[in-house]
Amino acid sequence: MAKLAINGGRKIRNKNFPAYNNFGTEEEKAVLRVFKSGRLSGYIGAQHARFYGGEEAKSFETEWSKYFGVKHAIVVNSATSGLICAVGAIGTSPGDEIIVTPYSMSCSATAPLFYGAIPVFADIEEDFFCLSAKSIEERITKNTRAIIVVDLFGLPYDSKNINKLAKERGLVVIEDAAQAIFANYGKKYAGTLGDIGIHSLNFHKHIHTGEGGVIVTDNDLFAERARMIRNHAEAVIDGRGGFETLVNMVGFNFRMTEITAAIGKEQLKKVKPLVEERRTNVEYLSQGLKNIPCIKLGKVRKDCTHSYYYQPLQYSSEIAGVHRDVFVDAVKAELLPYEKRTDEGVTLGKGYIKPIHLLPLFQNKIAIGSAGWPWNSPWNKSGVKYDKGICPVAESCYDNVLINNELFKPPMTRDDLDDVVRAFEKVWKYKEELK
Ligand SMILES: *Cc1c(COP(=O)(O)O)cnc(C)c1O
Repeated sequence: MAKLAINGGRKIRNKNFPAYNNFGTEEEKAVLRVFKSGRLSGYIGAQHARFYGGEEAKSFETEWSKYFGVKHAIVVNSATSGLICAVGAIGTSPGDEIIVTPYSMSCSATAPLFYGAIPVFADIEEDFFCLSAKSIEERITKNTRAIIVVDLFGLPYDSKNINKLAKERGLVVIEDAAQAIFANYGKKYAGTLGDIGIHSLNFHKHIHTGEGGVIVTDNDLFAERARMIRNHAEAVIDGRGGFETLVNMVGFNFRMTEITAAIGKEQLKKVKPLVEERRTNVEYLSQGLKNIPCIKLGKVRKDCTHSYYYQPLQYSSEIAGVHRDVFVDAVKAELLPYEKRTDEGVTLGKGYIKPIHLLPLFQNKIAIGSAGWPWNSPWNKSGVKYDKGICPVAESCYDNVLINNELFKPPMTRDDLDDVVRAFEKVWKYKEELK
């Protein structure tokens, strides 16, 4: 008789995990306050006192910048918009090369394309999954303008070595901290480690407003350019005069609504307890998972804290004798999904995402229009390649090694976490059934 649920045996668990929902009466009150005011957005897309938005958006920015110890916080409608603003704000031009990671949400690597810049992929660190300083160094050319680093899964990037390299070579560091809110490197928060950073308030992130993002920087010029790009720069600059340069002063509407900002202020108050609970849960879970011989726990970089968007696990098929995907499917079969997220299945991931350079966009070099912009532009001097094999560490994480675990989110209890460990233990014990 089969023991494993995937082969028809009894599951470890027959009820859903409790859903992650950090909304309460605080958010409800905030929404109603703005709703009743009738003023759902405070922005005007022209040179005007309200170019910078309404009371909720502006006070949210003030609170955010104080909390994270940074001079400027600029709220936008998503972290993706924030990344596009940042690439524009640093003065990117067509033909500039921007070094990016293959292992992240796609927009961390595609943002340069909107300014005609060329994404150049460097590989990631084997232990930490963030961009490798050594690999970046190998890919710098005289056309390199910036690096977009990502604090992947909630761990700050190697700012010690990468910032030093950037300084020596005159490069700007854009930090995508969408997954790493409240993580630290020394005394500084993720997002504030580079020259300009991005936080996300998307539904899936630690704290959220449904959709939303925040740009953070100490650089006055980058900040003001980002505000211009957020809100119809081309129209605003006409009434403003004196803005030092027209470069990238074609804007968008990336503005945040007043309701979103009001929710965001309440969410910000919860970031510390929510991230700390994730840390406690991951620590507890790790005590069980570390005894599974084919699983290695992801490490935390020295002087850093992790905010655990995901818990990364490294799998060894040599030790288990079966491929990761077979093992993970068997663990998933022992459990049930989160309540209210049942359509996502059990959130235990096989390899996170396909490395971005392998997406059709890069394989075919067709991004804006059909002719091949920006690679076919006369300013592109790079011989950039997107072949399979250029980022072997990221590719092997995706193909064989990485398991991204989301089964630790509050309000999961010790019993819930024990079930996760028991599912792994059971599949390890009966792995012969999988061969
Ligand atoms: C979620 C995420 C983004 C995008 O955030 P949005 O607010 O959804 O646009 C960018 N980068 C990373 C690493 C992310 O995880």
